[in-house]
Amino acid sequence: ITDKIAALPPDANYFSLEFFPPKTQQGFSNLHARLSRMAQALRPLFVNVTWGAGGSTSAKSLALAELTQRSLQLTTCLHLTCTNMSRRLVDEALEQAKVLGVRNILALRGDPPRSDEYRDDNSPDAVEDDSNRDFTWAVDLVRYIRKQYGDYFCIGVAGYPEGHSDLSHPEHQSVEHDLPYLVEKTKAGADFIMTQLFYDVEAYQQYERRLREHESGVFKTIQIIPGLMPVQSYQILRRTTKLSHASLPNDVLKRLEAVKGDDEAVKRVGIDILCEAVEKMKGMENPGPRGFHFYTLNLEKVVTQILERASLVPPATPVVISLDENGLPEQAV
Ligand code: FAD
Repeated sequence: ITDKIAALPPDANYFSLEFFPPKTQQGFSNLHARLSRMAQALRPLFVNVTWGAGGSTSAKSLALAELTQRSLQLTTCLHLTCTNMSRRLVDEALEQAKVLGVRNILALRGDPPRSDEYRDDNSPDAVEDDSNRDFTWAVDLVRYIRKQYGDYFCIGVAGYPEGHSDLSHPEHQSVEHDLPYLVEKTKAGADFIMTQLFYDVEAYQQYERRLREHESGVFKTIQIIPGLMPVQSYQILRRTTKLSHASLPNDVLKRLEAVKGDDEAVKRVGIDILCEAVEKMKGMENPGPRGFHFYTLNLEKVVTQILERASLVPPATPVVISLDENGLPEQAV
């Protein structure tokens, strides 16, 4: 991913699209068709494949990564969590990613480590599942990947513009609390930061400024990719923002509440809101985000309209055909 970003023209923007592995074969076929259309029409710089916490979707996530990386030849970033799953599963996932040609991993903690039963050597799982001794935080996974694979993988880590929340800390953790750990993850070898979804663009701008100016200096040039979730419905918006502790600024809420009984209108207003957010972030300086990550929820239409309207779809690469001395096509570049 970082090589691809470095190869872009200096002022070019880019975007990535995130997908989760469907549960059924039918869902998988539908997503295959959708992904083929989206890849051709939208040309994302890369796509992300999520990983169920604790490895719950490991086989399906790897199957989806095989589809995106191998069959569709899309640069793929495989998410990988490290708590509540055995080290064997982490090893297998990384090895399988390598076999598939996946070069990018988003290294995550996942759900908070389960209780002490996993630390009890007499527990039936103790021999099989030694994960919690190796992996407590995402930084442990970043270090592990670097130790085992050197620079083979480009590694991303999660950032939280509005702080972090999870079950292990009933109280919401502020950006101040989270920052030292983001410094640690970056020092351990992270190549880029991808953020939690947000609708408060000012909160993101403040976060990015704070990172860029951080005394450690580790965030000066690292790619920070803001995470955006297109609005698919009023209910989904309320649920996802509640779960991720993303705030809804008053003006955003007002505009959506005014149309909340009309699903199509919610989508239309949501598209306006997301396009405005992208425009605002494109206008940031020093240096401001170049890339945008979209949590698609495996849906196509709304994100397509946002990408087109926000002028994020890159031009198709022209095919140059050279002709031999007989005027016949020699090679396509
Ligand atoms: P960490 O960086 O380990 O941080 C977790 C919490 O612990 C933070 O509050 C941090 O401040 C604190 N902390 C970190 N290190 C220490 C330390 N040494 N001592 C004390 N406190 C510490 N989840 C999935 O299950 N599957 C996915 O595919 C997935 N994709 C995601 C994609 C993105 C872009 C984001 C932002 C999140 C994603 N998540 C996913 C959710 C993620 O797993 C959770 O948010 C999880 O609770 C924290 O993961 P982390 O990698 O940020 O953990």
